[in-house]
Amino acid sequence: NRAKKNSVNEFVDKILEGNITFLSRAITLVESTNAKHQQKSNEILEQCLPYANNSVRIGITGVPGVGKSTFIEAYGRHLTSKGKKVAVLAVDPSSSVNKGSILGDKTRMEQLVTDKNAFIRPSPSGTSLGGVAQKTRESIILCEAAGFDTILIETVGVGQSETLVHSMVDFFLLLKLAGAGDELQGIKRGIIEMADAIVINKADGDNEKNTKIAKVEFNRALHLYPLKESKWQPKVLTASALKNIGITEVDEMIQQYFELTKANNYFSQKRNDQNKYWLMSTIERQLKDNFYTNPKIKLALDKEIKNLENAKTTPFNAAKRLLKFD
Ligand code: GDP
Repeated sequence: NRAKKNSVNEFVDKILEGNITFLSRAITLVESTNAKHQQKSNEILEQCLPYANNSVRIGITGVPGVGKSTFIEAYGRHLTSKGKKVAVLAVDPSSSVNKGSILGDKTRMEQLVTDKNAFIRPSPSGTSLGGVAQKTRESIILCEAAGFDTILIETVGVGQSETLVHSMVDFFLLLKLAGAGDELQGIKRGIIEMADAIVINKADGDNEKNTKIAKVEFNRALHLYPLKESKWQPKVLTASALKNIGITEVDEMIQQYFELTKANNYFSQKRNDQNKYWLMSTIERQLKDNFYTNPKIKLALDKEIKNLENAKTTPFNAAKRLLKFD
């Protein structure tokens, strides 16, 4: 209940000072389902917004076990050693079921956790992936206002979560493992298309030969796509997150991307497009929520379903009547 005692202005002042305790508490308000908390977090967000946006946002995805946490630990530490301030957030579709399975266990990033220039926050839990994504978008704003200049967003490479993370980041990195020459099997086309880079992780020990083969295959696959609107040709790199090999090269490549897209204005254009996308999808989600949670609609919907079953109406007429309700 401490959160109640601090005013919105106090929150904003502390966040702008880079106070991590207040940043965490503000994110807790963002994640809360309590209407008063939401009202408060909205006010905090509005006031923080002018101080946000000065960051680069990097999405990192890959199947469980590919080495996402190990990579984020290595890359995060590389960044803080360069003087960057790094916030790590997660979007985990399963977090509504088992309360933040990724990043939930903070020991997975043992060293980054103790780094004073790093802030790590597990995935919010939520009833819908859309809700989780919105909370993450808002947390990004708070982290930026608190002075974090690099935002890393981890997501599991399964299902729809990549698309959502892709729509909130500037750069999208796909982590892969080298197999035995069948690299492209089982990899969703859409994900390859979204990737600005593929990093083949665990390029160490016995894996090195397979990694070289995989690199050639992924490069070939990436070149099948037309040049992106960003004018960036997606790259394939290899790394060992565990042994800290190739991390500098990944960072240099990502910085090249930002140089290019800031120079050709794609960077800001993409952020504008993303804002529009989030506006539209928030409206859609709200409309749906308002509709389906309306008790009158619930009753009328049941009735129309019965009418349908008894062949008394058509789906279209039923929908028309329901949509006129309020
Ligand atoms: P995540 O599920 O994608 O977050 O994967 P983790 O980061 O938890 O890594 C899964 C396992 O792979 C752990 O046992 C790591 O130690 C190991 N691992 C991660 N990166 C590397 C690497 O570069 N080389 C090797 N050999 N193992 C790695």
